[in-house]
Amino acid sequence: MESEATLKAKIKARIKELSKVKMFISGSFVRTERKCGSKTCACANGGPKHPCCLLTSKVAGKTKAVYIPVDMADEVEGWVLEHRRIKAILKEIDKFGEQLIKIHVKSRRSRERNIAVIKSSSKSKNNKVK
Ligand SMILES: [Zn+2]
Repeated sequence: MESEATLKAKIKARIKELSKVKMFISGSFVRTERKCGSKTCACANGGPKHPCCLLTSKVAGKTKAVYIPVDMADEVEGWVLEHRRIKAILKEIDKFGEQLIKIHVKSRRSRERNIAVIKSSSKSKNNKVK
């Protein structure tokens, strides 16, 4: 297991990463196809559908989809990727935080053990004096 100082340095580095985040958005970026709605368009008569992009997310257990204008697709895809990156960083900080907690408990126990050893040795000294 890593030392407390190493973990704290790692957490600090992740927090610094978070301070540099760009625009982000939750959800999944989906490239798909759709009918445009025009009855005279080829897509209405079995022809090729139009490529389109969606931002999908779960809201109260239901999938919500937002159409992304074509000229925004690349930008929004970047936002989604940024959100994923942030989530990964948060997860890492969680993991390091848990390790810090575990290390603290361990080092406190060993400290207490040391104190107990010191106390018992000083007691025996006192006994000798008596
Ligand atoms: Zn069409």
